[in-house]
Amino acid sequence: MTAVTFAQPGADANDGVAFELAEFIRDAANNAPRSLQTTLGPSEAGTPCDRRMAYKLAGWQQPNGGGDPLASVIGTGFHTWAAEAFSRPELGGRFLVEQHLTIAPPLIPGGHCDLYDTFYDRVLDWKCVGQYSYDKYRKEGPREQYRIQAHTYGLGWELAGRHPREVGLVIVPRQSARLSDIWVWTEPYDRQVAVDAIQRVATVNQLVSVLDPHHHPEAFGLIPAKPGHECTYCPYYRPGSKDLGDGCPGDLPPTT
Ligand code: SF4
Repeated sequence: MTAVTFAQPGADANDGVAFELAEFIRDAANNAPRSLQTTLGPSEAGTPCDRRMAYKLAGWQQPNGGGDPLASVIGTGFHTWAAEAFSRPELGGRFLVEQHLTIAPPLIPGGHCDLYDTFYDRVLDWKCVGQYSYDKYRKEGPREQYRIQAHTYGLGWELAGRHPREVGLVIVPRQSARLSDIWVWTEPYDRQVAVDAIQRVATVNQLVSVLDPHHHPEAFGLIPAKPGHECTYCPYYRPGSKDLGDGCPGDLPPTT
């Protein structure tokens, strides 16, 4: 990247400054270590699409860069702030923050859980979301993928010697940015939700081993896909692709 020279103040000049700064943000986000590992994180254990999971387990290259990174950058910033805020000594160690948990190696080795409230034995995960998702979750409840993630962390805490009683998601609204709009979903911890998720990952992994997509990329077509709105964010999404080795076309339903 070339060095940035800031322009003088002024409407047009400021457009240039904004563009340059945006490029720095994009560059940093795009150059964050890109994972080609063949294991899943807890957030991926409940991926609704088997084919997406299979691409990940096969360690496939990711043709979809993910679009504008700003929402994810803001989410990362909030997580960093919250980790500090909930670790303050004044809280007397009530919250366990960003603790690494072992879950089900080798396929789901583990991950960092946002928060564990030792008062209530409650597992919590922050989700910073835009208006569309915020309205949808409030109306319909959180995505099943997030629910599975929460229970998977619950299992991790159980394996670490805790006795989680409840799991929850804290939905933080990026758009309104008001504390009064924070919405929390919880339900009793259910180990079986995590065990079923791990079993599903093992089944898809077995399918990948048998189908051997590295020698037969077209075999991804034999793995059930679940196209939908989420394809846009799928790292393996390649619109119009005719070769599943290059990426998955998603076959999104037409929008009306
Ligand atoms: S693009 Fe959509 S259908 Fe294809 S693997 Fe990704 S999530 Fe599944």
